[in-house]
Amino acid sequence: MFDLLLKGSVVLPDRIIEDGWVAVRGERIGAIGTGEAPQATKMIDAGTDWIIPGIVDGQTHATSYKGLPGFEATSQSALAGGITTMVDMPYDNPDPLNTLERFDAKVQAVHDYSHCDVALYGTVAPGQGTDLMQPLADRGICAFKLSLIESHPVRFPRIPADEILDILTASVPTGLPVGLHNEDQEIVRAMIERHKAQGLTRPEHNETSRPEVAELSATAQFMELGAATGAHVHIVHLSSPRGLQMIAEYAARGVRATGELCVHYLHFDAARDIERLGARMKVSPPIRSGMIEDLWQACEDGLPALISSDHSSWPIDNKLAASIFDAGAGIPGLETLGPSFYTDAAERYGEEGAVRRLVDYMCLKPAEFFGLAPRKGAIAAGADADLVVLKRGPKPFDASQTRDGLNWSPYDGETFTASVATTVRRGEIAWDGAQILSTAGSGAFIPRN
Ligand SMILES: [Zn+2]
Repeated sequence: MFDLLLKGSVVLPDRIIEDGWVAVRGERIGAIGTGEAPQATKMIDAGTDWIIPGIVDGQTHATSYKGLPGFEATSQSALAGGITTMVDMPYDNPDPLNTLERFDAKVQAVHDYSHCDVALYGTVAPGQGTDLMQPLADRGICAFKLSLIESHPVRFPRIPADEILDILTASVPTGLPVGLHNEDQEIVRAMIERHKAQGLTRPEHNETSRPEVAELSATAQFMELGAATGAHVHIVHLSSPRGLQMIAEYAARGVRATGELCVHYLHFDAARDIERLGARMKVSPPIRSGMIEDLWQACEDGLPALISSDHSSWPIDNKLAASIFDAGAGIPGLETLGPSFYTDAAERYGEEGAVRRLVDYMCLKPAEFFGLAPRKGAIAAGADADLVVLKRGPKPFDASQTRDGLNWSPYDGETFTASVATTVRRGEIAWDGAQILSTAGSGAFIPRN
């Protein structure tokens, strides 16, 4: 006798089982099959809808605005988006996760506030030295994050290149990837000043003030620092195909180089959408013009290591400034990550092609990358019972109904061709398509293997 049975089109790592079932016992997947299903206390019959693994979002900023209690709303939004594990960035408000005390406090906050499971990035502050990197790795952080540009002097600082070199050297024995926010500070700051001096402060000037070369030169520098040290160097968001190609070139030379794509770069186009969305589509690096088709081709070529949301917990007030340079960068994205990717991919590759690519880039790959597999990322016997019913068919997206406590989105009013009807997190039905059924603190910290 099982506790829960889900029936539907089950998406496994290597194939799709039509008329399939997944049987759950406790927090784990007990069995998978087709045709006649075993007995279970509860049953969800999804018909011909997809049953996929819980999404592992490789990049969230849950606690960058409201601090550690920010987990509560953000994790509910994750579940509503079919995300059962968030990989949270270290740039918390007011202090980043760069010490063991802050690590312990953040894990405690997961156990106090989070509805979904959480893996954690750590960081190193400027001038801090590398002594705490191994102890943080031993506690189970899954990666380190650094930035070449300052967004905030304490929370999100710039790390000078000489210190990056030391940090990369010290990362090698930990085995952890080191992620980089890849923009050259001198180029971007000078360009913004030039734009301001000429009165060019409208939303469309964000793209020209943060040119592709600022991103590519920062990426190239990081790749060379990686090549010199043997570290795993990872770019956390690339806005252009050229960046992904550069990383592939370094990887072909034997550098441990990877790059990540965020779903909004595959969906929005600055030239087409900036007038309509303005600061609502401001992210850094910026969404550029004319990139979408080549970025989808880069995905077909297998260039991104994973695709993430880069969800930022900014209220809309942070966006509505007279000058685009005073508007905060970052957008909410947990409830649109899967549906947006599926909708755009289905137009190109059909529904089966879309769901296979979604599971590859948003479940299997991030779980492997962050050392969370085989517990997370795949429907397999013995894995955590993180399961999502992805309902096929059009559904308009209404940002006023989101669970993130922000209730705005650049996607507001768009119609997606799939929606998250059920989210099961470690065997518990946590989202039923209308309501969050889990409790705060039911989420767990998931250490890297
Ligand atoms: Zn980010």
